Amino acid sequence: MPSIKYDAVIIGAGISGLLSALALAKERKNILILEKSAVIGGNCRSYTVDGFQVDTGAHAITSLKKGPLVTLMDKYFDIVPKFLPHGHYYVRDGKKLQIFPYTLQEFARFGIISKKDRLLIAHALLDATKNHTIQKKSLDMSVYDFIKNYKLSSKSISFIETFCYFLSGKSMHKTPVWRILSGGGTTDELTHGMKNKISGIVGIVKNKTYLNQGYPKGGIKSITNAILASFPENRVTICTNEKVIKIQKNKNTFTTATQKHKYRSGTIIYTAEIKNIPKILENKIPKSFKDTLSTLKQTRSLTLWLGLKRKREEFNYTGSEVLFKTETPFWAMPTSNYDPQLAPKGMQLIGFTSIITGNRTQKEQKQLLLSTIKETYPGIEKDIVMQHTQVTVPEKAAITVGARFPGPKGPISGIYLAGTDTDKRSMGITRAAHSVVEMINLMKKDKFI
Ligand SMILES: Cc1cc2nc3c(=O)[nH]c(=O)nc-3n(C[C@H](O)[C@H](O)[C@H](O)COP(=O)(O)OP(=O)(O)OC[C@H]3O[C@@H](n4cnc5c(N)ncnc54)[C@H](O)[C@@H]3O)c2cc1C
Repeated sequence: MPSIKYDAVIIGAGISGLLSALALAKERKNILILEKSAVIGGNCRSYTVDGFQVDTGAHAITSLKKGPLVTLMDKYFDIVPKFLPHGHYYVRDGKKLQIFPYTLQEFARFGIISKKDRLLIAHALLDATKNHTIQKKSLDMSVYDFIKNYKLSSKSISFIETFCYFLSGKSMHKTPVWRILSGGGTTDELTHGMKNKISGIVGIVKNKTYLNQGYPKGGIKSITNAILASFPENRVTICTNEKVIKIQKNKNTFTTATQKHKYRSGTIIYTAEIKNIPKILENKIPKSFKDTLSTLKQTRSLTLWLGLKRKREEFNYTGSEVLFKTETPFWAMPTSNYDPQLAPKGMQLIGFTSIITGNRTQKEQKQLLLSTIKETYPGIEKDIVMQHTQVTVPEKAAITVGARFPGPKGPISGIYLAGTDTDKRSMGITRAAHSVVEMINLMKKDKFI
């Protein structure tokens, strides 16, 4: 059998796989990464379309002051990306942009929602805080179940619904209250003082100075590139176009099979979708692990990147905007405002991300999103010189009521898990980084490193 012995085989070359590889290589381990696609970076990539450099979805990176990505960068990166301040989060109301209300006081003045509803929502938030101090579990109920008794207007409901989608990936019927209170979370949502957090209506808010959130100069591929450039020499091998189809443990050795080869290692780090483990792993999997997997749900998003031949007045800001009063709410980010190199000279690049809801096809979702964009920014169609659509799963598990995230311990000894379906804290890349920090801690405990 053509085999190579590695200390660890990592499945998946997304940000979780790459961060894991860097940490372990720096701990003097020999690593093999197997990636099913032809490219490295998973959902943390950038590439060029007609002269515009798009990311895999519009990205704002959270917890940059003190968070897991910074912890890993400080410890393991030789080269770090340059993060530019994210700026404000705005809510679009017709032609106007209103800064997202970060505190209850600001929320009280947030004119997009009626005064009556603002008061009701403030009450609901305070009730939620009280509930939290009495009973943690009460916050794992759905946002819908929580607010249904407050008799809010349909406009306020659609505002809350939109934020549920963007903070959890799911509707208010499936989003747990704790997720909204922590705003996608920048810390350990259910263990830290919820009362402090509620000083903001959602926790994006926690990052009140905005410096805590950023966009990497050069696009999100700058994060991936910094990891690749920090790999110590001869410690990490990456094989692309190698989909892992089988893993088997025999005594203390794992054999990992792709369609092309078989590889042997003492340890496996699994960063692909954990729901697929039962299809790949030949050894017996405990029922409790399978039960945990069955609680995890996913969301699909559609991002439409528009390249504009000129810079439009509506997008004259650095930050993100949310449009909520529509059947296709979106989150938009003019990324070339951070880094003009992302668009040809004098042009502008904007990413519009929406969640695919119901049974809509990709084509229907794109058409709806594009017509909403045209309605929101009259005349924009005359400026569009590039359109690019991406359909992706932003996180391998959405935050839903009752979802249980397994943490870094795999179903059998020697398998470690990392990625956005193993840890519920925060979102996206920060969540991936949390999962890797957690996994390294477990590996230390297990004396693997
Ligand atoms: C539209 C959109 C917007 C986003 N916005 C933000 C944001 O604002 N802020 C933020 O922090 N994050 C954001 N994210 C999320 C963030 O990009 C992801 O959560 C993160 O990149 C996930 O990293 P990962 O390594 O855990 O998973 P992935 O990137 O999914 O990587 C998993 C890798 O495993 C590979 N793989 C799967 N199966 C196999 C197999 N059998 N064999 C070998 N390889 C396999 C896949 O090809 C992939 O490369 C956004 C994502 C999207 C799509």
